[in-house]
Amino acid sequence: MTQNQREELPIDVLFVGAGAASLAGALHLNRQAKKNNIDLEIAIIEKANEVGSHALSGAVVDPITLRELFPEMSLDSFPFEAPVNAEKMYFLHKSGAKFGFPYIPKGMSHHGCYVASLGKLTRWLSQKCEEEGIDIFCPFSGDEILYDENNFVAGIRTADRGIDKNGEQKPNYEQGVDIKAKITVFGEGTRGSLTKQLISKFDLMKDSNPQVWAVGVKELWKVPEGTIKPGYVAHTLGHPLGNKIFGGGFIYGMQNNILDIGLVTGLDYSNPTVDPHHELQLLKTHKWIKNLLKDGELLSYGAKSLPEGGLYSIPKLFVNGGLLIGDSAGFLNGMRLKGIHLAMKSGMLAADTIIDAFKENDFSEKILANYFKYFKSSWAYKELHKARNFHQGFKKGALFGMANAGLALYTGGRGFGIFNKLGGHHGHLEMQKINEDTPNRYKDLKFDGKITFDKATDVYHSATKHDEDQVPHLKILDPDLCFDKCKEEYGNPCQHFCPASVYEVVKENDKERLQINFSNCVHCKTCDIMDPYQTINWVTPESGDGPSWKNM
Ligand code: SF4
Repeated sequence: MTQNQREELPIDVLFVGAGAASLAGALHLNRQAKKNNIDLEIAIIEKANEVGSHALSGAVVDPITLRELFPEMSLDSFPFEAPVNAEKMYFLHKSGAKFGFPYIPKGMSHHGCYVASLGKLTRWLSQKCEEEGIDIFCPFSGDEILYDENNFVAGIRTADRGIDKNGEQKPNYEQGVDIKAKITVFGEGTRGSLTKQLISKFDLMKDSNPQVWAVGVKELWKVPEGTIKPGYVAHTLGHPLGNKIFGGGFIYGMQNNILDIGLVTGLDYSNPTVDPHHELQLLKTHKWIKNLLKDGELLSYGAKSLPEGGLYSIPKLFVNGGLLIGDSAGFLNGMRLKGIHLAMKSGMLAADTIIDAFKENDFSEKILANYFKYFKSSWAYKELHKARNFHQGFKKGALFGMANAGLALYTGGRGFGIFNKLGGHHGHLEMQKINEDTPNRYKDLKFDGKITFDKATDVYHSATKHDEDQVPHLKILDPDLCFDKCKEEYGNPCQHFCPASVYEVVKENDKERLQINFSNCVHCKTCDIMDPYQTINWVTPESGDGPSWKNM
């Protein structure tokens, strides 16, 4: 091999991203291949330093898929924190009042589910993969999709390492590798940078509602013994988001007096100054929550976007040589606030399809279309069908949304969808221009450093690191827009919707400019989704950079 020749690694199946969907998919594929006497080389690549350190979720997990994947194991063998043993739903008023819902409908209940940490769960699944001989390469980011001469997906080029901020090679430079695979499975998580390219190249959303997103911002707290029991689950509506912004809060009890608190904010709000991090801080100013946290200590912080659009926002799931799984494909039930079991199931259904493809030695769409057939006849489709109009109902406000969700429980998921399907919308197009009447939602918010924290302090608790001497991974496609147009029209909303203070308006010689503190980025992808001009393109930074979450 000459110096400039790129190394090639030929394998059979490549999973991009070691999240729950890929890990479950790879395990199921490996076992099915053995059962069918098919010799398969399977690999997973992950951009984080280790599996789980970029994984964040609430999380309350429905164990249905883990039971399918490990039928011989008892439920207490899974790496859960505790079974859900107390389930509450509250409407919070900013005055400090709290109203409990008398009853949680079956379709929204968490009965039979488990409080968990997605970080722990993915680490556990990765151990199972390694025990069964599946290679997991960390840290390796996918930089580019490879195509063959027939436009089939032919694998992934991993990113070069050791490139400085001017694009020059550093002494530690390492060229990326071409991993050539017969089938590439995209399980990159929400708004995956390669998945985004694939969806656009093959127009995979053309028959779907636009995906609608939300961002979940979460903190982990250590609280005094007796404050919260493992397995306690509470969801909140009302304060601080009110009727006009989709979303709500959650509080979960973990082992060892750890409390998860978070807030999900729909990325289809109209006020350009909405700040999901600040909304979480406002939530914690409610009297009840303040009381829970008052003698506690902040341990960790993070954020992640969620695909909330539901069944009708799932793209076409296959292309020649490629499949989409997990959050990358929108497998999330917004009504149940759950996606992990669906993501894992999508990986397993993709694995069944891959077995068909290897049996036929055909990696074209003709065979890969079986994936959708398998999905359609699975419990996952039935579950998503029952929640198919959930998010769309909230376009007319929280009260209409709740009424629509309530009606959906008695109409098999139809809700107010006259012809079965309510239409969707692009969330960023809902943002209104800024003017003197734009409400300042945070005029009374103070960061006391005990219960409420500014973004810099929270980001510190995410243990996020990026080598500063690299080309920033946030690409502003048209930088002139920022100060020519966006400042004027929307007041640079990136400085608000980014939960990690990456976008900062700074003054220099009496002139304002937008400073991009890319090393703060917690990889939530909110900027890629919510920018009103769609001018921010999030790509993977140098492999291994990003948050180092332990138990998020
Ligand atoms: Fe999230 Fe974008 Fe901010 Fe990174 S820069 S934390 S992806 S909003």
